[in-house]
Amino acid sequence: MKTCNFCGNKNFTAKKAQYIYKSGSRFFVVNEVPCEECDFCGERYYEAATLKKIEHAFEEISHSKKKASKEINVPVEEFADI
Ligand SMILES: [Zn+2]
Repeated sequence: MKTCNFCGNKNFTAKKAQYIYKSGSRFFVVNEVPCEECDFCGERYYEAATLKKIEHAFEEISHSKKKASKEINVPVEEFADI
């Protein structure tokens, strides 16, 4: 049985969540990614195959083999400046 690495809880709920993949200073946002969420602390767990798929899609997009269906502008700020 699975245990949450953060709180030790053993109850999880299958959900779909937004996943933010980061590679260096580049971001890739994927919506509706299947995951299991810890019922106690809310930590999300993704299957290795799911993460591989996201990584692969990111590679394709960054090598311009594929165009993402949507692009967003992400504001960036240094904490000391806000
Ligand atoms: Zn937890």
